[in-house]
Amino acid sequence: MTFLNASDRIFTNLLGEKEWNLATAKKRGDWDNPSQFTSKGSNWIINQIKASGLRGRGGAGFSTGMKWSFIPKDNQQHYLIINADEGEPGTCKDRDIIRHESHKIIEGALLGGFAIQATVGYIYIRGEFKQEADILEAAIQEAYAKKLLGKNAANTGWNFDLYIHKGAGAYICGEETALIESLEGKKGQPRLKPPFPANFGLYGKPTTINNVETIAVIPTILRRGADWFAKLGPEKSCGTKVFCISGHVNKPCNVEEIMGIPLKELIEKHAGGVRGGWDNLLAVIPGGSSVPLLPKSICDSVTMDFESLAAVKSGLGTAGVIVMDQSTDIVEAIARLSKFYMNESCGQCTPCREGTGWLWRLLTRIQRGESTLKDIDLLEDITHQIEGHTICALGDAAAWPVQGLIRHFRHELIERIEAKNFRSAI
Ligand code: SF4
Repeated sequence: MTFLNASDRIFTNLLGEKEWNLATAKKRGDWDNPSQFTSKGSNWIINQIKASGLRGRGGAGFSTGMKWSFIPKDNQQHYLIINADEGEPGTCKDRDIIRHESHKIIEGALLGGFAIQATVGYIYIRGEFKQEADILEAAIQEAYAKKLLGKNAANTGWNFDLYIHKGAGAYICGEETALIESLEGKKGQPRLKPPFPANFGLYGKPTTINNVETIAVIPTILRRGADWFAKLGPEKSCGTKVFCISGHVNKPCNVEEIMGIPLKELIEKHAGGVRGGWDNLLAVIPGGSSVPLLPKSICDSVTMDFESLAAVKSGLGTAGVIVMDQSTDIVEAIARLSKFYMNESCGQCTPCREGTGWLWRLLTRIQRGESTLKDIDLLEDITHQIEGHTICALGDAAAWPVQGLIRHFRHELIERIEAKNFRSAI
């Protein structure tokens, strides 16, 4: 396997070995004459990003260039929103990018704003990220002081203002339309789509919402060329990605690697391996808590890209890799996630509002051994009644981990139930 060459790394200060400030960021190549790109026009930038194959790094994996091209070419006010809510359990990459590479985000915001012809950008940051919000604010002030933001930002001839908005800690505000509602000062609840934000977004104006990591890689892609990015990793899942590796590993970390790296090598090379060795692995959730887990037999060979993980009925999601060794009570672990989704459901749609509670209660019953075998089928049935029947993806996010549990650990559920029944009979 080829690992990412150091020379192809975008986030050279992800671990914070150097300062985040403007002077040191410039030494890393940030803010190197962004007008060389804007002078070629917004369509040129959009086409470059399309050609690079960059797919959104917030979880959905939609083509960034395509998303930008949906913004109408008109004279209305357009907005760019950067989603820094990062509430997905197991995910902590945007936090480190904000802490240590904040100028990549600000320069990317200017270029992205120009591409969609937005003169105003907002960074919606999770409220608990106080230190990160302070750093971002200071970095934005530095950029204003050096005329990199504001009128004729960075000599691009484009006016661009950038503001920070702190959320109040609701997971659902990471969903783009709930985020817009929250930014408008309303209760953070997802909107029905259509209309889509590209036509009717913030304050009813055309709006694009991009994840922090997506925006932060834009300047480097433009500098090094779409071809360079497109040639890294698999054809349909190209580029580099920041993986967050947590759980039962010897050295939890955030690391930028090439897309398509084998999961096993990712964990062994960067996270010091599974606690107790690879054979002690039970399962991995490869893309943040909302994607189905994978048992060790699949983890042995699966690679970390959108297509390969979809082929094994999981997903790359946010690339939050949660490792669980043999000591894990897998039923309890998934029940805990179900409780999280039950608590975070905004309550607008019945399948999600009621179904998430059912999932949690049934799993808790099975975990305690207070269930019958019929409950496994009931559990599965409820996941299908939620999946695809809700306004936003939180419903799917609640259903998929449970489906993964049943798909790969049905035997564990049966053993739990039968062990209890056996104990009751004697
Ligand atoms: Fe709210 Fe859940 Fe419906 Fe999303 S799926 S809108 S979180 S109730």
